This record gives sequence, C-alpha cells and structure tokens, in this order.
Amino acid sequence: MSSIRAIRGMSDILPEESCYWQFLEAQVRALLASHGYAEVRLPLVELTALFRRSIGEVTDIVEKEMYTFEDRNGESLTLRPEGTAGCVRAVIQNGLLGTSQRLWYSGPMFRYERPQKGRQRQFHQIGVEAFGVATPDMDAELIAMSARLWQRLGLASHVRLELNSIGSSAARQAYREALVTYLDGHREALDADSQRRLESNPLRILDSKNPTTQEILAGAPALADFLDGESRADFERLTELLDAAGIPYVINPRLVRGLDYYNKTVFEWVTDSLGAQGTVCAGGRYDSLVEQLGGKPTPGIGFAMGVERLVLLLQAAGIAVQDAARAQVYAVCVGEAATSAAFASLARLRDALPDLHIVQHTGGGSFRSQMKRADRSGADYALIWGDDEVANGVVTLKALRGEGEQRQLPVTQLVDELAGLNRAS
Ligand code: ATP
Ligand code: MG
Repeated sequence: MSSIRAIRGMSDILPEESCYWQFLEAQVRALLASHGYAEVRLPLVELTALFRRSIGEVTDIVEKEMYTFEDRNGESLTLRPEGTAGCVRAVIQNGLLGTSQRLWYSGPMFRYERPQKGRQRQFHQIGVEAFGVATPDMDAELIAMSARLWQRLGLASHVRLELNSIGSSAARQAYREALVTYLDGHREALDADSQRRLESNPLRILDSKNPTTQEILAGAPALADFLDGESRADFERLTELLDAAGIPYVINPRLVRGLDYYNKTVFEWVTDSLGAQGTVCAGGRYDSLVEQLGGKPTPGIGFAMGVERLVLLLQAAGIAVQDAARAQVYAVCVGEAATSAAFASLARLRDALPDLHIVQHTGGGSFRSQMKRADRSGADYALIWGDDEVANGVVTLKALRGEGEQRQLPVTQLVDELAGLNRAS
C-alpha cells in the first residue's frame, strides 16, 4: 500500500531542527518577558469575515492565499493566515483595551502559496502587538526590542532594518491618486500583476520585482511628498529615538507592506543570506484597525517574525545550538538484577539532580552493544551496572571522551559525584 505523505508546504520539524526552534523560542520568551510583554494563546480558526475586514479584500492573502471552508453548520471559517486580526478580535472581545497592552503570541499560520525555501503553506510566526499608545516612542520600543533579539541570537550582522512611513489614510488616498495618474501613462509597459493592481491596490505596485516596472517607478511621485504633518513629525521622532538607541536603519521609500490595515510606521528586518525570501520580521502601526473591527478607537502597532526563516538564518549563520535533549549520562545495565539496581539508583539520582540528562538503556543486550549505544548517544559519561557492581553495591563511572578513565564508586556516592561533575562541565 502506498504511504500517506504530509500535505505539500506543511513540514515536519524533526529533532535536528527542533533544537533551533527551542533555542529561538527560549530567547524570544525571555526577551519579551523582560520588556513586559504577556503571552496570549489564540484560536487557529476564525470567522472568514474577520480576515476580510482587517487584512483587506484586495490583498494577496485574502484574494488567493486563505484556507477557507464551511463547517458543518455552513459557517465560513478560515485557518488564520496571520495573527494580528485574531489578536485584535481577542482584545476587543475580552475587554482588554483601555490601558496599554503589550502582548505576544506564536504558532502556525496558513497561506496557500507556492512552497519554496522559506515559504510554506503552514508556517510559524511569533507576533508582538502593543495597544493603546499612539506616540512614536512605542514604535521605537518595538523596533529596539527586535534589534536586541537579533543581537542575542547572534544574527545582528546578518539583518538590516528597513523603515518607512506610509502616513495617514487621507495622505495615502491623495498619493494613490497621483500614483495612478502617473502609472496610467505607462500602463502598457507594466507587468500583468501591476496592471491588475492599478485598479485594485496600486500601492502594492511599489513592491513589484519586475525590472521594467521598477524603471517606471523610478520616475513616480514619492509617497514621502504626500505625508501629513503628524506622520512626518512622528517618523522624524522615531528616527531620532532609533539613533539614540544606536540602531542603524535604511529608509526605504518603496516599503508599503501588503496588508491594508497599516498606517504611519512600517518596517521590515531583511537578510541577504536566504535568497528571495529575505524578510524575517515585518510590522507596522495600525491605528484604525481596532475601530474597524468594532472596538473603541485604540491605536496599535506590532510585528511578526517568520520562525522558519529565522531558523534557516541561524543555520546559515553557523550559530551553534545545544541539542536540548542530548544525554549527559548514559546508564548501561546488563542483566535483570543490574537493571533493578540501576532503576533504584537512577530514581534517587533524578530526584536529586533534576536537570541532569540521563538516558537509561532499555531493551537489554550485551555489555558491548550497550556501550556502543552509550558512545553514539553523545553522552559525556556512562554509568555501568553489571553482576559485579550489584554484588558489591557499587557502580562504574566511565568517561566517554578523552582517555576514557573509569572507576568504581559506592552507589551511595553517586549523587555527590555527579553533582560535582555536572558543575564542572
Ligand atoms: P512575503 O513578502 O515574503 O510573502 P509577507 O509580507 O506576506 O511576506 P507578512 O504577512 O508580513 O509576510 O508576515 C510576516 C513574516 O512572516 C514575513 O516577514 C515572513 O518572515 C513570514 N512569512 C510570511 N509568509 C510566509 C510563508 N508562506 N512561509 C514562511 N514564512 C512566511
Ligand atoms: Mg506573502
């Protein structure tokens, strides 16, 4: 019978990779806690209307990337393609607005895209959202926090910050008209996607990778010239604060982001080490989204990191990550009496040293075959119980690296001995 395989674009994360995920998640968790951000855990499935109303009807996500289906009751549901919409829904529904809120979440997101390196159909984001503060010090805090994360992960030299302001919605409306007027004069030369977007979502044309379109855009009016005074002042203040924090940035006037809900600050952290899928973290301000989803007007800003891309980047950057499940001690026990003795001693040892990683051999086998396993486990030490050890109330401790020294010690000294070794290593 043919075996059933995972769905295209949805991957298993196996032990050799999961250690990178754990490393990343542990760093993120600690960093966010140290800045006062609290975790929320949100549903993977929401009403389709939530995403249509927030992300926008004429975005890539809503037009062609959502996993949408009817449940048994005929209700249209969607596997979340991103986290901000659900988070905003949750803060409104649970009455969390009013005071400022710093929140984060993580988990799988779903988009029907063409799978390739760094682009999957089930992928993972860690998202951060801050509600209730409209001033650019909030923007600076979020960006500085992300910069500190790259530092802690050892990735600081691999990413750069791209920054822009897309202004108020009125400013964007005025700019949109000027852009459309300009591009309309070059309609025939635009790529097909951009021609289509000219009607539906002209700002996204700025994102186009098509070289001819890029040439045409070089002569286009600039969004910066249309910014309202408040957006301009906030953006300037943000750059001052980033300068004060020593965070380098590149202003990218073409950066507009793909979702409708953004205003003012938008930013991306980009790497050159991953080919086309170079954005590892992206975000922006969304001051009207809460109101748009039925909450009382509350400003917000957030960003989302792509976990798969960050893991790829950690690997590409050669960052060494400890395998969290690696054995430090491998316990070898030959014969029934030895196995019983090992169980008794190891129970005491695990009670006393809960952080020590002990893998106990199971399934029997000869001394030779068990020692082979011990070597292959990557452990530093083998603890060996055989008939002699049981008869004498001792255990053999053998170093699996270096000279391979070994000695016997009374089982009553095992805890002290390993506590000492553990501290020394
Ligand atoms: P892209 O331009 O690469 O499609 P996006 O603008 O659609 O990205 P966002 O919606 O801003 O992406 O999501 C934030 C981050 O999540 C991205 O910067 C990226 O790191 C990650 N991401 C988005 N889509 C995927 C995907 N299909 N597979 C893996 N990671 C993704
Ligand atoms: Mg996308």
